[in-house]
Amino acid sequence: MNIGIVGAAGRMGQMLLAAVMATPGARIAGGVDRADHPDQGEDLGTLAGAAPTGLLLGSDLDALVTASDVVVDFTHPPATLLLVAPLVARHGKGYVVGTTGLGIPQHEALATAAQMVPVVQAANMSIGVNLLLGLVGRQAAATLGPEYDIEIVEMHHRHKVDAPSGTALALGEVAAAARGVSLDAMAVRSRDGEVGARPHGAIGFATLRGGDVVGDHTVIFAGDGERLELTHKASSRAVFVRGAVRAALWTKGRAPGLYGMRHVLGFV
Ligand code: NAD
Repeated sequence: MNIGIVGAAGRMGQMLLAAVMATPGARIAGGVDRADHPDQGEDLGTLAGAAPTGLLLGSDLDALVTASDVVVDFTHPPATLLLVAPLVARHGKGYVVGTTGLGIPQHEALATAAQMVPVVQAANMSIGVNLLLGLVGRQAAATLGPEYDIEIVEMHHRHKVDAPSGTALALGEVAAAARGVSLDAMAVRSRDGEVGARPHGAIGFATLRGGDVVGDHTVIFAGDGERLELTHKASSRAVFVRGAVRAALWTKGRAPGLYGMRHVLGFV
């Protein structure tokens, strides 16, 4: 399986290069990054901290997609996705999207591509977080009614550019879905000053940034006289990378469609 990586010089991209090289049945098809990235022309093996491969970091998305069976995208801004999604659809290649901070245009582009090719999109590719999504939605929010206030707290490293994290929003989505409400209608994404009492049924978010925190998420169900807190802490990006490689291999021979990690991990 030839795996192409968009954002190959990034934190996730470099780890992905190393993980793909170490995975039986997987091969690096190529890696691209911004044309003005200082690592342009560097050997992809060297970037991954391994032996040289003869493949160099480039910036030609079309050539990368052509050479790949599946393309893995960990970039930002998510504008890159708007360029890659039509290319994978046109060339009939699988697409795995880990980039977060997606808006309506990105989700529309993925839905369009998913009519032609298998697309796996997940704001968090770790097994633990995907299990947490099920616990929060299907168990806790479905069992504890709106008299339990839901607050979602997340912390990430100082370089993260989007907030709240894609994972925090995904946790909010499953909680809202379990209550039969729309997250857009119920979300309180920040509070400052005289905000008044907490609206009934609101789903609140709090965002912390600092240091090298890989990713912490806690969902709090606060009732009268008791509080349930469900927490996931990622201590290594390796959990996301393993999930992304697994998702890339999973797309082989898969019917077109928009999939999540729960499909890849067999939670559905
Ligand atoms: P990073 O800044 O280290 O890497 C992003 C890379 O993308 C950079 O090298 C950048 O130059 C490159 N890039 C930007 N625009 C590009 C373009 N047009 N073409 C090619 N490359 C381009 O960031 P990171 O920590 O690797 O995270 C990348 C993304 O992955 C973020 O959105 C982050 O939130 C997300 N993420 C997702 C998961 C998950 O499990 N889904 C886990 C960790 C991070």
